[in-house]
Amino acid sequence: MQPTRKPRYCLQCDDGTVLELGVRDVTVTEGAVSRIAPDIAGWHCPKCGEIEFIDEDSSTRHMAVLDAVFEEVNADKNSFIRQIRKKLGLRQAEAGQLLGGGVSAFSDYERGKRQPHKAVVLLLKLLNRHPELLNEVRAVA
Ligand SMILES: [Zn+2]
Repeated sequence: MQPTRKPRYCLQCDDGTVLELGVRDVTVTEGAVSRIAPDIAGWHCPKCGEIEFIDEDSSTRHMAVLDAVFEEVNADKNSFIRQIRKKLGLRQAEAGQLLGGGVSAFSDYERGKRQPHKAVVLLLKLLNRHPELLNEVRAVA
């Protein structure tokens, strides 16, 4: 892409903030999780951090860091799933087959790669309060 001499304005701020062209380390933060995406080329907003990417590579690498941050946040959010599963004495594959989602579902939930269906969360919370119902679940599954 040809560099342009005309100033570019941040569409996010929408107040005339001028974007700065360059290569920067960009910090991606979500909740308590923070990671750095190094050497991101593009038009950077000095105010809100918005980036207009100028190459595919920077965009892809920034997206990968974003995904990793969200996975980590989700893994934190989903830590109760591992706790309850262990309390019930279920292996991941067993939990996925019994409560839904398939053999790899709980591995995905606990690593934050996938969000469990609301029904699975409700069932887990119910079993957390009444672990003795696990036998009932097994009987009707
Ligand atoms: Zn901005």
